[in-house]
Amino acid sequence: MSLATLLKSIEEVISRAGIAPARTEAEIIAGHVLGLTRVELYSEGGREVPSADAERALELARRRAERYPLQYVTGECEFMSLPFTMREGVFIPRPETEVLIETVLEMVRGEGIAPGGVIEVGTGSGVIGVCLGRALAEGGGHPAIVATDISPAAVEAAKGNAYRHGVENLMQFIVGDGISFIKETDGGGRFDLFVCNPPYVRTSEIGSLEPEVRDHEPRAALDGGEDGLAFVRRIVPSLPSILLRGALVALEIAPDQGEAVGRLLTGAGASGVEVAKDLSGRDRVITARMA
Ligand code: GLN
Repeated sequence: MSLATLLKSIEEVISRAGIAPARTEAEIIAGHVLGLTRVELYSEGGREVPSADAERALELARRRAERYPLQYVTGECEFMSLPFTMREGVFIPRPETEVLIETVLEMVRGEGIAPGGVIEVGTGSGVIGVCLGRALAEGGGHPAIVATDISPAAVEAAKGNAYRHGVENLMQFIVGDGISFIKETDGGGRFDLFVCNPPYVRTSEIGSLEPEVRDHEPRAALDGGEDGLAFVRRIVPSLPSILLRGALVALEIAPDQGEAVGRLLTGAGASGVEVAKDLSGRDRVITARMA
């Protein structure tokens, strides 16, 4: 089968399942299996594809057509224009989360003092910690970043991504739930930046998420209980015990959670609560200062 025919066949399998943009996904799957860039896929369209490769690519396309996430099919995802290694069972980073990182970096740069101790809770594939580590190191800093996740698979993926992006020397990973397990030896009481994309979807809304998310992504990374705030409510009161005075706290939120999370933060002694919007103009990030 020629490469052009293979691309067409993959596209058909995917578009028949109602997935769009099918052509783009076909290119990603074929490129992944054959180790070709997008440009090569077209410049070499006439080339014969070995049947084992064609069969493998079509098999992945059929898997994708069952609404299995593309990022699990290829084992790759993109975040902040960087490639990250992805695996089944690990939360797939969303573009909204780039706002969390940009907001934190803007605040840190505005201050002119780079954070020395960073704690990220629920790191998933590690994208937040890795991107912050890269950016802070580029700015001449040498932050010590502790990244935690309840899932051992996530921590494995995050470690791999820290190596992939050359920030493994800045990062320490711990498998655990929440923050109460963080000890003095892990930097407790010394962090000056807390960052987290918590599970914040209401349990009742999980059923109406896209099948890729609902059926395949880890529930623990999404489900925030009845009002979406169960996890946040559990960790915020412990923040004063692990953060320095004046530490920056930054959390991703659902667009309707700003007020409630602001109240929780204020209740834990934080001040200067601010909310930042995502690219669609919806509240997505909340920041505050620990008193
Ligand atoms: N924004 C994500 C979604 O709707 C939810 C992420 C989260 O709970 N942290 O899929």
